[in-house]
Amino acid sequence: MVVFNKISELKNFLHQKKQIGHTIGFVPTMGALHKGHLSLIECAKMETNLAVCSIFVNPTQFNNKNDLEFYPRTPEQDIEMLKKVGCDVLYMPEVADVYKSEQKNTYSFGYLSEILEAEKRPGHFDGVGQVVSILFEGVNPDKAYFGKKDYQQVMVVKDLVKQMKLNTQIIACPIVRELDGLAMSSRNVRLSAEERVLAANIPKWMKETNTLLKQNKIDDAKAYMVNQVSLFPKMKLDYYEVCDADSLKSISDITQANRVIALIAVFVGEIRLIDNLELL
Ligand code: AMP
Repeated sequence: MVVFNKISELKNFLHQKKQIGHTIGFVPTMGALHKGHLSLIECAKMETNLAVCSIFVNPTQFNNKNDLEFYPRTPEQDIEMLKKVGCDVLYMPEVADVYKSEQKNTYSFGYLSEILEAEKRPGHFDGVGQVVSILFEGVNPDKAYFGKKDYQQVMVVKDLVKQMKLNTQIIACPIVRELDGLAMSSRNVRLSAEERVLAANIPKWMKETNTLLKQNKIDDAKAYMVNQVSLFPKMKLDYYEVCDADSLKSISDITQANRVIALIAVFVGEIRLIDNLELL
């Protein structure tokens, strides 16, 4: 695996590879890698000639200072994991290499920047737009792989690619889960043993509420989730919404959408976890 710290060097290297006909599959991450991240690298390896990963804890997408300060960082372990799955290229920069000037690209994501994660984490998607646009300019990927765990982010990135007029294809990959159903997340390692047990309720309740959604009982599903979370003083519901999976508009009747998705954000202690489940 070739490791770059400078985007200019990464860009030159990848440009040469493109000239000899290689296709590039890109997986941007914030490190503290787990099997969810690795599944994206594996997809990139299968579908393109060169799997490129970036590890960069992007300060501009954090609206909470503590979350940024305590975000897990395990660079040596990450490098080993990437080598094991056969990742070809890693870009691991310092902040100054990514944000070289005061000049910022700003993108507007309309409705997507008003709801759910955007509403609860003001400025979050501005930061995501900023960093992903810089990374895409450097990597110029044919395909870029994102996890459906961050469902709204996938939609934001698809919108970004349109605004940037890039040919990059955005591939949304399935959520990888722990054995008890908890969606894998770098933040899971910050949960105490007790919180980790509580967190496993999230996917369980999502399944239970989806049974109600299938019967078109959206209000009952919402009430059920509010009630379940309220039973545990260490948990706090940030949102639970039922939406059209194509637009993320909130719906009150499942017949209003072709595809229905329930999305949740919950605090378990200090740690904020997100998950979602499509109604199949
Ligand atoms: P992060 O390092 O959290 O910014 O995530 C980097 C990429 O990995 C994003 O596209 C995430 O959606 C994706 N990802 C994170 N957790 C999972 C998971 N459990 N399953 C699949 N993809 C994931």
